[in-house]
Amino acid sequence: MGVQKRVDAILSTIARRNAGESEFHQAVHEVVDSIAPALVKHPEYLDLKILERVCEPERQIIFRVPWEDDRGEIQVNRGFRVEFNSAIGPYKGGLRFHPSVNLGIIKFLGFEQIFKNSLTGQAIGGGKGGSDFDPKGKSDREVMRFCQSFMTELFRHIGEQTDVPAGDIGVGGREIGYLFGQYKRLANRYEAGVLTGKGLTYGGALVRTEATGYGCVFFADEMLKAKGDTLEGKRAVVSGSGNVAIYAIQKIHQLGGKVIACSDSSGYIVDENGINLETVKRLKEVERKRISEYVTAHPGATFVAGRNVWGEVPCQIAAPCATQNEINGEQAAKMVANGCLLVTEGANMPSNPEAIEAFQSAGICYAPGKAANAGGVATSALEMQQNAARDSWTFDYSEQRLKQIMVNIHNTCLTTAEEYGAPGNYVVGANIAGFRKVADTMIAHGLI
Ligand code: GLU
Repeated sequence: MGVQKRVDAILSTIARRNAGESEFHQAVHEVVDSIAPALVKHPEYLDLKILERVCEPERQIIFRVPWEDDRGEIQVNRGFRVEFNSAIGPYKGGLRFHPSVNLGIIKFLGFEQIFKNSLTGQAIGGGKGGSDFDPKGKSDREVMRFCQSFMTELFRHIGEQTDVPAGDIGVGGREIGYLFGQYKRLANRYEAGVLTGKGLTYGGALVRTEATGYGCVFFADEMLKAKGDTLEGKRAVVSGSGNVAIYAIQKIHQLGGKVIACSDSSGYIVDENGINLETVKRLKEVERKRISEYVTAHPGATFVAGRNVWGEVPCQIAAPCATQNEINGEQAAKMVANGCLLVTEGANMPSNPEAIEAFQSAGICYAPGKAANAGGVATSALEMQQNAARDSWTFDYSEQRLKQIMVNIHNTCLTTAEEYGAPGNYVVGANIAGFRKVADTMIAHGLI
């Protein structure tokens, strides 16, 4: 049987065995479709069933999370941890708290994480977890009670050498603090390296907060450099207004670009003077309010309710930093027609397959999330390294390390794409480079 036929058979089995998990199917397709040249060149990957094995999580944990709200009413949420692949290191990946969370979403995120973590060059496997709990509108005490209940089950599955969770959508410094406190109490161990994204007083690392956003802009900068261009004077749109978006905006501004729009799930704001980051940080990190409030502080700005920013506000640089499938094919075509030169994905899988096709066929720079947003998890691995050494590095040194990692990932993507006959294709480069390291390690470990 030819390679394509064997791959199609594998994909249809995956679709059948994981019915209804559409985001997981999408993530698998994106990887499998782009690594075909590697499967042809290395027949052992198909012969040893590496694809079938890598698409099947090593372990999936689903658990009940009961907690009591402020009115004394009992709430029941569902918790997940998918320990996807530990070939190259302990499972590593964030926790997402969002009402849309289900097994298919966690599996897509965990699957992406395997190859992203491999690309960083660090010894971290892939995993992801979370809950359908919605932190929006909850009091701090409710969030604490939820996190304590969640960790009461999760703690038996994780450990600094086993599985190391961190944040993702809905899980930031506050949640990591409550989760760490409960882990420490249950395990009776001060195991700083069991979680990353910690506060600076208890083992957190400088630059971890900024790392995903900064990293995706460093990646964009490298793509532009490869074309003899820079961010200087470029008009940018960043979607979202959470942790990734905030530090992407900051780094674009530091490198001379101007971000004129950002968003949240209620709509987007446009400020032609450049987004004022202090206002966004106050609204989102301190007051936990909607982005529409931005115009109260900046009357020259406009708020557009209920709309997605993509294709509506022309820009040269696009950094989708909100969530999966936020850009569809039609929006991508409009972005290209409006002069977009580069897309750097701060979010995981923000462009749907038609959008990716539109960017690539237009020949613009397109960096998939597993390369462009790898700086977050890479800096988590640096946090683990500092915890293991009971050390803490300076901001400047840590940022230098992050930058070097992003430069290396960029170069790895380009050289791998070239080697496999797809010059300039960052999707092919990222997927093949990320996959090969994991696949070769799985072969070295034997059939386990
Ligand atoms: N949630 C982040 C990601 O998608 C970070 C994971 C981590 O630091 O472990 O990569």
